[in-house]
Parts: sequence; structure tokens; C-alpha cells
Amino acid sequence: MGGDPRPGTRCRACGGADGRVVLDLGDQPPWDRMPHRDVPLPDPAWPLRMWLCAGCGLAQLEDDADAVEELHGVEPRAMAEQSDRSVGRLAREGLVRPGGRVAEFGSPHGESWLPRLTGRGMTAVDPAAAPPDGVDLVVDFYGLLHEPDQAAALDRRVRLLRPGGTLALQLLPLGTVLRDGQWFDLRHGHYAYWSLPALDAALRRHGLGVHRAWWYPLSGGTLLVTARAGAAPDEATRALLDEERAAGVTDPSGLGRLQDAADGAHRLREWLAAERDAGRTVAAYGAASRAVPLVCRAGLDAGLLAAVGDASPAKQGRRMPGSDVPVVSPAELAALRPDRVVLFLPELAAEVRAALPAVEDGGGRWVVLDPAPHLLEPDRALSRG
Ligand SMILES: [Zn+2]
Repeated sequence: MGGDPRPGTRCRACGGADGRVVLDLGDQPPWDRMPHRDVPLPDPAWPLRMWLCAGCGLAQLEDDADAVEELHGVEPRAMAEQSDRSVGRLAREGLVRPGGRVAEFGSPHGESWLPRLTGRGMTAVDPAAAPPDGVDLVVDFYGLLHEPDQAAALDRRVRLLRPGGTLALQLLPLGTVLRDGQWFDLRHGHYAYWSLPALDAALRRHGLGVHRAWWYPLSGGTLLVTARAGAAPDEATRALLDEERAAGVTDPSGLGRLQDAADGAHRLREWLAAERDAGRTVAAYGAASRAVPLVCRAGLDAGLLAAVGDASPAKQGRRMPGSDVPVVSPAELAALRPDRVVLFLPELAAEVRAALPAVEDGGGRWVVLDPAPHLLEPDRALSRG
């Protein structure tokens, strides 16, 4: 499991040098640089490893691979609905109110919460030009994980707050990644994999404390966390903290289960080879960032996986990084008349099946990875036949 850390590795949050590699995916192309189809292989690739700090418990990207190009994906409806729920929750907590000032640190590949917040009467403030007396609310919507220097990033967020102000973060906690074996969430350009215990400890070093955390089913378990100065976790939040600790999120042997899951990617390849040998055409849906390490780790090519469908126009005409599998539009995917379509984003199942009835109408079946490939029952309610 793992290997020796690269000499000189320092924790992005606490600066500590003591830690170990808990997940090693070998050389991987950057997921955000989706090459055009006519760009010849091989693609450049860099080591992709998760390093766990023994001092503060932050799991983090060991090396940086110079991620540059950000392809904007189409935001899944599920994500937009979660944004509605999160902003609604903050409003019910009294944190979103007319006249209040909010600064947002957003994700380079997601939607902003600002229209939802200003729609409720808040005034949006540019984090780079905040008033000296601070803002009432700082929201971080998958922004923090994109920051190479986590200590500096936390400091920037905390400094913007007025006394008594609240920092709200939405994140995929490491406990979810670990429980579901989502090793493919390790990505170039995603520097920090926060667990709730590590986040609470880090925020305390910056003068805040986690106050509340709410669990939502998006992506298998998404957290909305609020923190402010002097706060202690309430009872429900303490239970979430204990649950993550018990799962082993700050423990190298607990996180070793991610390596075991990554080493199981060959099962997808074997299944695809069996499908090919049985004369069936298999495609996939969702050229998402998380699909890139899966395709590479499983060693897939267009002979095994005909295409990956994706609704984002920015991705069409391209191919999956590190392989010759083309990315095609949903209409092109349907035109292939695939016998099987592997859903790389299982939370999109209902949405994608409704949008592409041609797959099941043509006798095709949708497949989810849990983690072995598993055929979904045909959805009679969606069938037009
Ligand atoms: Zn650390």
C-alpha cells in the first residue's frame, strides 16, 4: 500500500513534514485537459498520489501537475437542486438575509450560488475588494479544494468575515469517498480531501470552529458545514465527526481501502472484454472528471468502450485523456445503438435515462458500477413502447 512520500513534501494546511502516501494511482493525465480527437497519444501524465498528513490529518494531493485548462461541464440537475437546498438551509439558519453581505469562493467547474443569495436580498462582495469591516457570510462552493496552499486559502476566507460572521462550505467529505471506495475522486488540481475532523481542526487553527454540518445524499454524501468564531459542534455534528473518525479518515490503514478499490478497476476492463467477445457494443455516459482516472486505471480503449456521451458542447470532438475513447454528444451516443451504456455518474441515472429513452427503446441497458458492473432493470415507466 502506498509508497515513500516525495522528499520535501509539506502539508498544505499545517506545514508538517510527517506523513505517508495512502493512495497511489501511478502516472495519470490531467483530467481537465481533454485532448481533441486528432491529438495523437500518448498524453502527458504525472504521478497522482494522495498524501496523508500525520500532524493534522488532511489527506491531500502530493504533487501538482500544472492543471491549466478548465472545461465547463453542464451542471447536473442534482447539483443545482442541492444548491437550492443548501442556500435554503442557510436562510433558515438566519444566515441569508436582506441587506447582508456575502463573498463567494466558487469552483472553477461549477455554478455560482450568488444569484440564489442576491435573489434573497444579499449584497455580493468581491473577495478581492471586501469592505474593511468584513462580510456577514463567506460561502465556499467547492472552492477550497482547488487551492494549492490550504493554509493561505483558509486565512483569506476567515479574514473576510466581520466579527460574528459565518463561513459556509459545501464539500464532499473524505468519509464519503472512503465509504464508497471513490478512489477516482483523487485528481490533479484538487489539492485537499477534507474530512470533517480535519476541517474542524484546521478551522480552529484559524480562529473558527465547526458549528453545524448537514448531510445530503448528493454524490453519496455531501456536507454543508458552517463555522464561526467560538463555535462548538452541536450534537448532530458531533455524531458526524465521530462517524468519520470511526471510518478511519485520518488513519493510513483506513485510507488504504481506497488503494484496494483502485486496484479493482481491472474488473471493469474484464467485463468490457467479455461484452465485446459476446458481440455487444458498450458505450458510457458522463465524460466527467472522475471518469478520467477510471478509464486510465482500467486501461480502456475504443476497442472496449466505443464512446463516452456527454451533453457538454465543450467536450465534443475530444477524447478521454490517456485513451482513444471519443467523447460524443448524447444524440451520437444514441445513434451508436449501444447494447450497454455504463453510467460514470450514477446520480444522473434518472435524468439521463429520461433524456435518452432511445437507449432502452432500442433494447440497450444502462449499467452502474457498484463497483462491479451491474445492469439496471429496464425502466418501463420511461418506455414509449
Ligand atoms: Zn497537516
